[in-house]
Amino acid sequence: MIHDIFPRVFHNEYRSFEPDEECFIICFSKEEILVKQQENNIIFPQFKELSLPEGGLNYLFSIDEQKYFLLMPTETLIPDGSTGWTEEVPQEGYRFVPAGRLRDMQPRHMAFAAATAFHVYRWYADNRFCGRCGKIMYPDDKERLLRCPECSNLIYPRISPAVIVGIVDHNRILMTRYAGREYRNFSLVAGFTEIGESQEQTVKREVLEEVGLEVKNIRYYKSQPWPFSGTLLSGFFVDLDGNDEITLDEEELSEATWFDREEIPIADDGISLTREMIQAFKENKY
Ligand SMILES: [Zn+2]
Repeated sequence: MIHDIFPRVFHNEYRSFEPDEECFIICFSKEEILVKQQENNIIFPQFKELSLPEGGLNYLFSIDEQKYFLLMPTETLIPDGSTGWTEEVPQEGYRFVPAGRLRDMQPRHMAFAAATAFHVYRWYADNRFCGRCGKIMYPDDKERLLRCPECSNLIYPRISPAVIVGIVDHNRILMTRYAGREYRNFSLVAGFTEIGESQEQTVKREVLEEVGLEVKNIRYYKSQPWPFSGTLLSGFFVDLDGNDEITLDEEELSEATWFDREEIPIADDGISLTREMIQAFKENKY
């Protein structure tokens, strides 16, 4: 999956590091990221390659010993009063590419780093002002949070929990296709956890809403951060309980079809939890 970068180690403890010459600088402009790209291989600019405004960088995380810094969103004020960098491309060979394409980029640990940086970037960009009193929010120097100097409101990074559900009926699994989304391939029933419910309740509700089925024997599989949507996905396998007749939610889905294990037309892509779950079922592991 996208976050499996072993043997490399992801260190996401928040520290108030200063940038060194070799650290990577992750720069976004709206939905695009600055990279040097050769086919599917990407590299990020290093601190020594860029001339950046004082105080415009925010430490993100490290992978092994390599530090990553975020160039703060242009409009975000830093505590010393300076602002982040503008949208010019600073070095020859670098260009902005859509952040959504990162899922197919190499090396994998750098694609994961950039996608995670995108999650953080959007959170900063979306929380420039205090929702309670309207003043400018400042990044804290001890934790990954934004603090309002006026009313002490604290905003932590937004991570939205959601579930993915592999609905199993003996030797077959229910696969779906989304309606009106860019991703056209088969998927599994999925949805966000609503307030006041457990993830097990989300599983039952989403299955009933999207395909009109009752399920039982909810088994947790694995979880995955999905930085492109700021989501934490939890995968579950469940058994069909009773009638197998599908009532499709046509606003969400364009198709829901039962596939026997041997006839599943897609394989693991090494990126998404959904595809790994489909592969696991295909290989008779669930
Ligand atoms: Zn406030």
